[in-house]
Amino acid sequence: TYNFCAGPAMLPTAVMQQAQQEFINWQGQGCSVMELSHRSKVFMQLAAQAEQDLRDLLAIPDNYKVLFMHGGGRGQFSAVPLNLLHSGKTAEYIVSGAWSLAAVEEAKKFGAVREHDIRQKTAAQLRSMVASSDWQIHEDAAYVHCCPNETVDGLEFTDLPQTQVPIVADMSSTILSRPIDIARYGVIYAGAQKNIGPSGLTLVIVREDLLPAKDAAIPAILDYRLAAENDSMFNTPPTYAWYLAGLVFKWLKQQGGLAAMAQRNQRKAETLYRYIDESDFYRNDVDPAYRSWMNVPFFLADEQLNDSFVKQAEQQGLLALKGHRMVGGMRASLYNAMPQEGVEALVSFMKDFAKVNG
Ligand code: PLP
Repeated sequence: TYNFCAGPAMLPTAVMQQAQQEFINWQGQGCSVMELSHRSKVFMQLAAQAEQDLRDLLAIPDNYKVLFMHGGGRGQFSAVPLNLLHSGKTAEYIVSGAWSLAAVEEAKKFGAVREHDIRQKTAAQLRSMVASSDWQIHEDAAYVHCCPNETVDGLEFTDLPQTQVPIVADMSSTILSRPIDIARYGVIYAGAQKNIGPSGLTLVIVREDLLPAKDAAIPAILDYRLAAENDSMFNTPPTYAWYLAGLVFKWLKQQGGLAAMAQRNQRKAETLYRYIDESDFYRNDVDPAYRSWMNVPFFLADEQLNDSFVKQAEQQGLLALKGHRMVGGMRASLYNAMPQEGVEALVSFMKDFAKVNG
């Protein structure tokens, strides 16, 4: 089977097999890694290795802390303003789709925000805005928040505002899909359940000078400084998820790192978009310049066929293609663990389905 779920998403088969093999007795410890103290030497080594592998993959500069936190992407919707939005300051939010909208709604609980809603802009307007850096970011803002890959809308943009203001990026559904220049960001965060590992675990990469003050009134579990000073072990971290993330990072290195993943991901996405564009039976409404490599929403010409499309796809081992409830239609998520063969199997099914029903 190929699982096209937007998250929790499929993990690499090799990772699942290794986890299964060492599930009960991890490295001769006589117990599962899940049952080990997070403060044991062996677990601390595992944790440090996972961090190092991630640092290698993303070339994370030394002045950034890597935090393994709880609470998912939504936890960070609260953590970001709590850590970074100091009184008297305003935070800027670029609203490009469903998830950045959810982020700004949460931030409003904690302080002043300004929204830049780009959802209705045409691709041409977006392009000229990016080209002229005309995002109208206030240079005294605490930070500017964006979501470079909108999981629901299938919109991805790699162009960022040119600004001295720290950029905070929700990379939940794009992290590790391609190389990124970490130094352009103040904070990057990601829920793990797409390209990293099991849900709940949350990765935060934060520039050191943005850590909050020591005495800041921030719930301890969301406090970046506390997490950094305690090697993400202020409380019990999600240890099993951390272990699985570590296996994923090793797998990514074996695949040739993020440059190799970028090539594969681009090819997968192109395979699917090319067929959708060729076909009269399916369509994708996102401008080609801003189409996501990771999440491909598409619609059938006859929406009444949606249920039978999903059902027949499942019978062929193509899982979780039903679109997000807010958008409808279909959505195929093509995260790192999805092989090219999975996309080809999907395209072949789509062709057959269109032939019979078109
Ligand atoms: N941000 C993005 C871009 C997402 O895709 C998601 C979930 O799919 C979230 C945030 C919310 O993540 P979580 O469910 O881990 O809180």
